[in-house]
Amino acid sequence: MQINKKAIKITAIILACVIFVTASVFAFMGIAHAVKIGNIPEVEYNGEKLNVILMIGDGMGFNHIKAAVSRYGELFMTSAQTKGEVTTFSRYLFGATDSAAAATALATGVKTDNGNVGQYLGKEKQSTTELAVSLGMSTAILATEGVDGATPAGFSAHTNSRNDIDGILDDQLASNIDVFIGSNIERYSSLSEKIEKAGYSFFDSMSTLDMTKDKVFASFEEIPLEDQGDAKPTLADLAIKTLDKISVNEKGFFMMIEESHIDKCSHNNDLDGAIMHVKAYDNTIKAVVEYAQKIGNTIVIVTADHETGGLQYNGEKDSELNNSMYTLTSHSTANVPYFVFGNIDYEFAKVMDNTQIARLCQAVIGASV
Ligand SMILES: [Zn+2]
Repeated sequence: MQINKKAIKITAIILACVIFVTASVFAFMGIAHAVKIGNIPEVEYNGEKLNVILMIGDGMGFNHIKAAVSRYGELFMTSAQTKGEVTTFSRYLFGATDSAAAATALATGVKTDNGNVGQYLGKEKQSTTELAVSLGMSTAILATEGVDGATPAGFSAHTNSRNDIDGILDDQLASNIDVFIGSNIERYSSLSEKIEKAGYSFFDSMSTLDMTKDKVFASFEEIPLEDQGDAKPTLADLAIKTLDKISVNEKGFFMMIEESHIDKCSHNNDLDGAIMHVKAYDNTIKAVVEYAQKIGNTIVIVTADHETGGLQYNGEKDSELNNSMYTLTSHSTANVPYFVFGNIDYEFAKVMDNTQIARLCQAVIGASV
């Protein structure tokens, strides 16, 4: 009986210690995040007003690029004169950001809790897309997944749950954004009437896609990795068609383009799939940068929302690339790359926070020059 009491006492003391240590660690992590979040410098930009194209490779870390280079040879994106790293942490204290919080940071310049889209603690935050609309600029959101995905939603909606896809659509239809293009036709074909009622022309195939319509909402069965002829457009084809439409606006434009599938393949530890999408993303970047150079006055910022899979790369040759180079099936906290194309009078830090990208985009398109 006495031994039992003693055992209970010792157990209680051990438990109290464990709770104390755990709470201290969590509190410290919280403070660490709070300090980091508090220290994000404001972006000051007094340069020329430019069109902005922001390109996001969902889940693409540095090692995804290295593995893709090992298979396909040099990629276009790495030729950028200006490049560096982006920190991706959200307000989630115990691990990596999700795509919703990362998109919110990249779109609004505000850190939020995982799952939140375009808002923090119930308060809606203005995205670069919304700022562009309010300035009379043309705007477009492109993704290889459905535009109700967390990344496109972060640039066009406000909700506390990325799963609130009806709320996301309602916000998008009221957004005055000129172009939405993505996949997930299974969802959108039954919503075509609602979309048309809101003033968007709805398209579900390349043969009917008419970019001369005032507002365009397109959902394709598939956006293939490589050219398969006119019937199935690649992301690069769709980006160029969209640029033809939005670049005629004298007030300028903002476009967000997401390659959504590097993340999805990496969750499955499918390295071949992931780097095929890195290559397709790179093809899109090249086409978009060449277009931007042709029209001038346009910067293209290429980045990722977070790294997925904790991919390791130790100089593996093409034939040595394999799925066991992944160490996680979830997102990691690793920094991701950024690449900037175009002339911009701004000194980029070697390591930027993801919120600074939003602040810079907003400063650039809002600059009163
Ligand atoms: Zn993911």
